[in-house]
Amino acid sequence: MKKIVEIYYESAYIKEFDASVLSCEARKDGNYDVILDRTAFFPEQGGQGSDVGVILDENGVKHEVNHVSIKNESEDAGGFTAVIRHVIDKPLNKGDKVHGVIDWNHRFSNMQQHTGEHIFSGVVSSEYGYDNVGFHLSDSEVTMDYNGILTEENIRDIEFKVNRAIWENVPVICEFPDEQTLKSLDYRSKKELSGDVRIVTVKGYDVCACCAPHVERTGEIGILKVIGLQNYKGGVRVNILCGRRALEYMTFWQQIVDELSRSFTTSSDNIISSVNKLLSENADLKAELSCAKDSLIEYELKEIPSDKENVILVKDAATDGNSMRKIVNCLVQSHDGFCGVFAGSDEKGYKFVFSSGQKKKDLNEVMKVLRESFLAKGGGNALMVQGSLPGTKITDVIEKIEEL
Ligand SMILES: [Zn+2]
Repeated sequence: MKKIVEIYYESAYIKEFDASVLSCEARKDGNYDVILDRTAFFPEQGGQGSDVGVILDENGVKHEVNHVSIKNESEDAGGFTAVIRHVIDKPLNKGDKVHGVIDWNHRFSNMQQHTGEHIFSGVVSSEYGYDNVGFHLSDSEVTMDYNGILTEENIRDIEFKVNRAIWENVPVICEFPDEQTLKSLDYRSKKELSGDVRIVTVKGYDVCACCAPHVERTGEIGILKVIGLQNYKGGVRVNILCGRRALEYMTFWQQIVDELSRSFTTSSDNIISSVNKLLSENADLKAELSCAKDSLIEYELKEIPSDKENVILVKDAATDGNSMRKIVNCLVQSHDGFCGVFAGSDEKGYKFVFSSGQKKKDLNEVMKVLRESFLAKGGGNALMVQGSLPGTKITDVIEKIEEL
């Protein structure tokens, strides 16, 4: 069995490397799969997205690497124990000597997030006895799933301990121990492992089987911030950010707080009370407005002669269902026929509510006309109907109803 040299196991800090092209095949999506005899590009695996970067050919032409995968099935691997495919945008030729450059900012960020996750899961395991049963690290988020409940308070405590481990700047050791040593080790692992097992030790905090690149000392993580906690499949899902991502997150929130501060012309620690004050003022204004609307309706309805049999009013789209019902309830007290309100516009259509007046005329007739001639939707009974109709000339609708 031949083996592609996985340079990221020599050191997670190797950013550039030389290699030979073993094969290059066109993909259906217009890109190419290139296999190199050695690579520092870490492929997607174990819940972590792959490295990205460029491969330069002998003429210095850049081939963008936008994804890297690994396949361990030996029958499909052309005699290799595992095949690592780089997806590139332009073809290379078999035998080409190339120079690979990984996107270091991207890789280092992954190393920060991933090592932060180890410490976090180590603390969860030692203090609460829960396992990390799911891990996802992409360019947009980092989530860990644990098979037990953690409260907001637990999370703040774990977060503090992880950050203390970061300040202590303890070493992170990645190694492939021999079988004997491995048997004597107590380590976390998501599944039963066979073959060479890589053990990642964060001194004093965690021992875990893992294949990904990590930072060499915890201080490089910078900071770990928990930004989400939710119940998930009987346990919890925790979202974290480390290093630069955490800094960018804090900058983002600081900008929001600053902007709110300016809008409320208050200091940031007074924003919550300012928002609460605004909400309560808004509720008062809404109540006042509702009263004013009711008085206006009353005034308007008084102007309608009571001997008018059918009364059908047209209001603008801002009139809500509550007001519409109030109007018809009021109208039926002093009118004999169909009492209704349309709210909306000829362009966008109308909502409607109808109630039958003192003579109890059958509103099913009205509903039939609205449905058959104006494509209305809705329903009700002989004494009350409501619904909506698409854009139409409302004067035509009223004319039809008056003909009944
Ligand atoms: Zn790891």
